[in-house]
Amino acid sequence: MTGVCELCPRRCRAVRFGATAHPGWCGAMNAPRVFRWGPHFGEEPPITGERGSGCVFFSRCTMKCLYCQNSPWSWKGAGEDKTIAELTRIFRDLAVVDGVENWNLVSPTPYLPFIREAVKPLFDEGIRLPFVWNSSGYERVETLEEYADLCDWALFDLRYANDKSAVAASAAPGYVAASRAAVKWAWERTGRGKGLIVRILVLPGLADEAIENLAWIATELSSDVAVSIMAQYTPAYKALETPPFDRPVTREEYESVTEAASDFGFENGWIQGYEASDPKLALLGENMGADHGVVK
Ligand code: SF4
Ligand code: SF4
Repeated sequence: MTGVCELCPRRCRAVRFGATAHPGWCGAMNAPRVFRWGPHFGEEPPITGERGSGCVFFSRCTMKCLYCQNSPWSWKGAGEDKTIAELTRIFRDLAVVDGVENWNLVSPTPYLPFIREAVKPLFDEGIRLPFVWNSSGYERVETLEEYADLCDWALFDLRYANDKSAVAASAAPGYVAASRAAVKWAWERTGRGKGLIVRILVLPGLADEAIENLAWIATELSSDVAVSIMAQYTPAYKALETPPFDRPVTREEYESVTEAASDFGFENGWIQGYEASDPKLALLGENMGADHGVVK
């Protein structure tokens, strides 16, 4: 593999691949770095199924959210560089030993070429599970097209409806157009709804943007889209010192979004109870151990 990286909308063009590789804006280099892998029973019901979803948490991320709950590996790069053979082994063990329902690629974008190479020997052996492309939604349609074989399920966020918010909270210029184009791509490609779940994480102070995104889905796509509305925001990392991200969402904010979802006619999907906003219930990724194990 040689060349510059333009996999995400940032298109930083770092020379990441080949002998003289340099880290990209996201910190990814010329090997897939993995923090943890194992069955996860807390994803949306069609993804979790009976046997759990086989998550692979890749280190690094194309956004830098100041409220990131996974900062040890997303911001700071904790994890281990894997060879292609080692990554193949991870996918094989998830399928054969853990017996999971799918391969859930958590923020795969910087490592797509390596992932495709790693699963090929498994396909040749007849081991194949559906892929979940689990992402912030900050994606390029060109990349989605090129790696569509790694996307049976698109589990995409729509986090912001205003680019100023996306830049301030996640350092993600052009997020709104990119994430909406990604959701539209998945809606059209996966057969109008089959295989697309849009996550709406309600952020403190930004409930209006969540409502704007629901309005966009209902108007531009359809209220048949499966949406997963989440109250579980918990202040973490830099958000602890950055209002309004230093607090959970209020009940009033959250209910304004769930009521809007009902008004727009969304019937497919899931709405977390407001109690999920209780910080005592938070499953903070920053407390999760590395390597193989059940995700909890
Ligand atoms: S995935 Fe990382 S290295 Fe590639 S363009 Fe995006 S920020 Fe740059
Ligand atoms: S919150 Fe998600 S999208 Fe944002 S930096 Fe952390 S892992 Fe990346």
